[in-house]
Amino acid sequence: MKYISTRGNAPVLSFEEAMLTGLARDGGLYVPETIPTMSADEIAALAGVSYEEAAFRVMRPFVGDAFTDDEFKGIIARAYEGFRHEARAPLVQLAPNHFLLELFHGPTLAFKDFAMQLIGQLFQFSLGRRNDRVTIVGATSGDTGSAAIEAFRGLDNVDVFILFPHGRVSDIQRKQMTTPDDANVHALALDGDFDDCQAKLKDMFNDFDFRDGVKLAGVNSINWARVLAQVVYYFTSAVSLGAPYREVSFTVPTGNFGDIFAGYIAKKMGLPIKDLVIATNQNDILHRTMESGAYTKEGVTPSISPSMDIQVSSNFERALFDAYGRDGNAVAQLMEELKDGSFPISQGAMEILRETFKSGRASEDETMATIRDEFTACGEVLCPHSAVGVKVGNENLSGTPMITLATAHPAKFPDAVEQAMGRRPDLPPHMADMMDREEHVTRVPNDLAYLEALIKERIAQR
Ligand SMILES: *Cc1c(COP(=O)(O)O)cnc(C)c1O
Repeated sequence: MKYISTRGNAPVLSFEEAMLTGLARDGGLYVPETIPTMSADEIAALAGVSYEEAAFRVMRPFVGDAFTDDEFKGIIARAYEGFRHEARAPLVQLAPNHFLLELFHGPTLAFKDFAMQLIGQLFQFSLGRRNDRVTIVGATSGDTGSAAIEAFRGLDNVDVFILFPHGRVSDIQRKQMTTPDDANVHALALDGDFDDCQAKLKDMFNDFDFRDGVKLAGVNSINWARVLAQVVYYFTSAVSLGAPYREVSFTVPTGNFGDIFAGYIAKKMGLPIKDLVIATNQNDILHRTMESGAYTKEGVTPSISPSMDIQVSSNFERALFDAYGRDGNAVAQLMEELKDGSFPISQGAMEILRETFKSGRASEDETMATIRDEFTACGEVLCPHSAVGVKVGNENLSGTPMITLATAHPAKFPDAVEQAMGRRPDLPPHMADMMDREEHVTRVPNDLAYLEALIKERIAQR
């Protein structure tokens, strides 16, 4: 299996190389050259097997000959052993034809654990075998950073540096990043906002001397291996509702478009998905794009669902690549236009996108009302991101079962949940002492040279 860049101008790589590289050198994102399919019989045979076995069968064709079957099974088993639910991604019912896929039973209580835990084990295996090491630097508005730290802490061949905006993540999110005391974990509180963190990360990747010198690797949501890990739960949930003999629809709370793009891949592989509904909060660039046919940046307005507060949705480039008939030059040109803030999408490409995706948005008030109403209606306590999804999912109910993805545990966002329903959600018992644990964090200025020097120094000390 070969991987190509969405901008058509970077080396073609194997699965393992694409995973270790992250962003392509032409600025594009890696995608498989072809999408493997599963037959109806193969999909039907997923019924009743463990999550790990389903993960193996769904992901196997994408990794090519990178691992033997036993090696890959071992990697998957280690990735999901820390989850607190036997089913890994259990499905619960909200209403007669509306289901919630609970993706928050991993170590940091958000769906990003599904991808990050797998990536941690993949990196460990691949680097160990090559006797190599990498430096992972990530920028986070909260959830990605803690998921990355949990996935890479204590691993021999990796140092992990996480940049988060000082004073702008929730207490729980900060504690999750700053309380691990492993020598290879470095939490950096940057004086700036999330966009500053992301800009510094980008600058490091564009500084090829630094990038090569410290063997920089990225694990943000553009990494193909992360998208791949997320394809699995579309299969397991659809099969438990009757696929491949019955269609299902999905609504996905969306920021960087990684999670919903995984659903698109599942559909291309042969899973009978009717609608894939994009759900955004008030930062609704994707919903506006689907309505207007133009992709236009606006400033970010902070919301109670902060992990979806984005200005530019990076994985959308992968959908554009397909909608433009896999023309890398066309995508490169659109991304060039985006530097001035906006690009129009051709009519043909828009038709293709609208055939696959629907969209909706939830305001702050609607998000709060949904948390309250769902608790009353069925006793399910939703985090604000999941509530955005459920609100939009409710608007798109039809004769086809709707599965809305619940992306985080409500206890990760206690203030918003308490405000909505008058009750503070409890942390799960194994995390109850989180707020009392000691923090390890370095405050850093918004300065590239300073950051690069600090990273080099920390690595040299190990
Ligand atoms: C990251 C995140 C999202 C958005 O996921 P994307 O893959 O970026 O679209 C939604 N909810 C939560 C809780 C998240 O952490």
